[in-house]
Amino acid sequence: MGDGTRGIIALQEWQGWGTTSPVPTVVAEIVEDLKLLERDVDEQMTFGGKGGKLQGQFRLQEDKKHRATYQTLGDSEKKLQFYAARQIACRLLGSRGYLCQKCWLPMEEDCVCSKVTSCSLWPGIRFWLYMHPKDFLRQNNTGKLLWQVFGVEAATLCLFGIAEHEEIMWNSFKLAGKGKVWCLYPNKSAVLKSVKDAFGLEAVANSDLTATKTKEDKTLNFILLDGTWSNSGAMFKRLQDRAKSVWGDEDLPCISLSPGASAMHKLRPQPSWDRTCTAAAAIGLLSELHDLPQFSCLGLDEQADAVEDALTNLLEALTTRRLRMGRSITRKARHTNNIR
Ligand SMILES: [Zn+2]
Repeated sequence: MGDGTRGIIALQEWQGWGTTSPVPTVVAEIVEDLKLLERDVDEQMTFGGKGGKLQGQFRLQEDKKHRATYQTLGDSEKKLQFYAARQIACRLLGSRGYLCQKCWLPMEEDCVCSKVTSCSLWPGIRFWLYMHPKDFLRQNNTGKLLWQVFGVEAATLCLFGIAEHEEIMWNSFKLAGKGKVWCLYPNKSAVLKSVKDAFGLEAVANSDLTATKTKEDKTLNFILLDGTWSNSGAMFKRLQDRAKSVWGDEDLPCISLSPGASAMHKLRPQPSWDRTCTAAAAIGLLSELHDLPQFSCLGLDEQADAVEDALTNLLEALTTRRLRMGRSITRKARHTNNIR
């Protein structure tokens, strides 16, 4: 694949969706293949439905072609990377010119960007949104809110199965060391710690006085699994496997939020958010950390509020959209307007 083909998804367009990474190679290749196929079958690709699915005759042709490609891939890692990149390529092409790049809502009708207030996250914390490709550019994804509010350096997108993204994330984890990496995942089979148990004795560096070098070492990295409940098992497994190869055979440290203490239980308006509303998990974590004495002066409560405001705006926009489109809203959705 020549370098000229990368131009099909320009760097600026790619990064506009919320990442600082280069355009992933496999995504660029698949976009190029789609464009070539479009020329070969002399039919424009069209997308529709949820998830940026290809439509019509083009879809049938592409289906045949991508299945054939998939079969030729030797190992399961290559297959996973191809699967992830194809999802992302289709979503990129299907959302172009339709979704707002920042809030991932239809830009003409529903964009909520004017209502989002940005806020600085305490620099001792960094969030990683480990996102399933099927959640990429989804309107009801809530992980995107974190980098809308805190910026892409404080809340970084890492797409599952995209080698470039996973390298960036794991390089940061290697620098940070195992003791500074935590996964928020309420998995019974994982070793779980409460926020208090994990961080109750944590020394908090004064970020004003700490040199950049030592600050890097002290940053707490939190991985938020951003996908449906059924996909998050595979995502967690992949993190565990990588953790084992990097740090030996120990499990990836996991923390669980106390039930009831977080916003998570108030804020689930749609079945698709069941148990995995990512923004609510971040709100819960910041709130619980704030309750620990040594974290109490860092403004984490205000930072949690900023995410909650953004989440409320998103829920309102989604509810408005559903009503406009004549869809029913769930019983839970009616309560979301009361939440601040
Ligand atoms: Zn927007």
